[in-house]
Amino acid sequence: MVALSPNAHLGNSLPGTLLAHRLNGVKPSPSMAAKTRVDALRAAGRRIVDFTIGEPDFPTPRHIVEGGVTALLAGQTRYTASNGTPALRQAITDKLRRENSLAYEPGHIAVGNGAKHVIYNAFAATLNEGDEVIVPAPYWVSYPDMVALHGGTPVVVPCSVAEGFKLTPRALEAAIGERTRWLVLNTPNNPTGAVYTRDELAALGAVLEHHPRVWLMTDEIYEHFVYGGATHVSPLNVMPGLADRTLVINGVSKAYAMTGWRIGYGAGPAPLIKAITMLLSQSTSCPGAMSQAAAAIALDGPQHTVAEAAALFETRRDRMVQMLRTLRGFDCAPPDGAFYVFPGVAGLIGRHTPAGQRLCSDVDVALYLLERSGVATIDGTSYGMPGHLRMSFATGVDVIEQGGELLRAAVAELS
Ligand code: PMP
Ligand code: GLU
Repeated sequence: MVALSPNAHLGNSLPGTLLAHRLNGVKPSPSMAAKTRVDALRAAGRRIVDFTIGEPDFPTPRHIVEGGVTALLAGQTRYTASNGTPALRQAITDKLRRENSLAYEPGHIAVGNGAKHVIYNAFAATLNEGDEVIVPAPYWVSYPDMVALHGGTPVVVPCSVAEGFKLTPRALEAAIGERTRWLVLNTPNNPTGAVYTRDELAALGAVLEHHPRVWLMTDEIYEHFVYGGATHVSPLNVMPGLADRTLVINGVSKAYAMTGWRIGYGAGPAPLIKAITMLLSQSTSCPGAMSQAAAAIALDGPQHTVAEAAALFETRRDRMVQMLRTLRGFDCAPPDGAFYVFPGVAGLIGRHTPAGQRLCSDVDVALYLLERSGVATIDGTSYGMPGHLRMSFATGVDVIEQGGELLRAAVAELS
């Protein structure tokens, strides 16, 4: 008899014996799945207002695109070093020094196909069966699954609305155990927009000082998108003593609207970078040469487009929050950073749809809003915090307003 895979989403055409046990407990990325769902509904002719995927809705700045084209025409069409071209790694160290006051040499940098790929390989390089990784919730959807995929155990620490969705030193201390390998700190945070202050980071650093075996991963991919006077602080700036056990994660996807170019990087101690590079050499060989050339131009070139994007996102944030605050059942605090709102929707849970169905969870709410109004959001459960929705405001104000009208009508129909 052939056992069927427990991963129902993989379909039932593959015999379960073919699939690795590692896949148990791993699911497809909910944000990528949401994008796929929106694409499919649109292809089927439905009009969808999309607040799901987190990527800038405008094109990569022209000088960067031209740089990529020039690189192609100049013959940069071959394999590069597995950890990235010398030019890109130099551009990254210059950027880290200039913008983050962090001193790294090119040998401390590994370039991957997106920040996601570097995070994936960092876990692959460091986790043994049963090692624990502390993931404060709400979290970006991919951290726990990437940990689980490499035999690790995600230790999810809930961070409440009252704490601004931020990890407290007390909660961190309580979560650290014998098997803790990493703490993942994402500031500004996806999905809440929470931005850690200098003092908050210093307090977390003080806890980590007492646990020399625990490594710190700082995901700073939204660093440039901070609003209302909030500032991004690179955690290592306030905990420099942790430099020999910290991996800084960043990339060009968000800051330069380059999600499709797939370039991200990690900066950290040379032995870790070497191990990650080995995995890169055995998997992708190297990131695309032309994308690396364009990324170097993005980092070395004029930076005004980044500030312009941040100003645009702040306008959209304000409009999105204003809109949600007029909707019954939505509870929305303005996020300090990134390009997501994470409103509470407890006020909608327990209510009934026109078809008489009771909305039992945020998953039901997201499904109802998509079905009834064509407005696509992502359930908070996917981010480790039920009772919320994640909505991206990396989209036009006109779309936000149109979505608001549709949501208002759908909410009004609930009894
Ligand atoms: N970290 C966070 C918190 C993110 O939201 C994303 C977005 N996908 C990434 C990392 C990865 O970005 P990329 O792979 O496009 O560099
Ligand atoms: N980070 C983006 C998001 O959260 C892109 C999709 C993904 O990689 O998760 O929507």
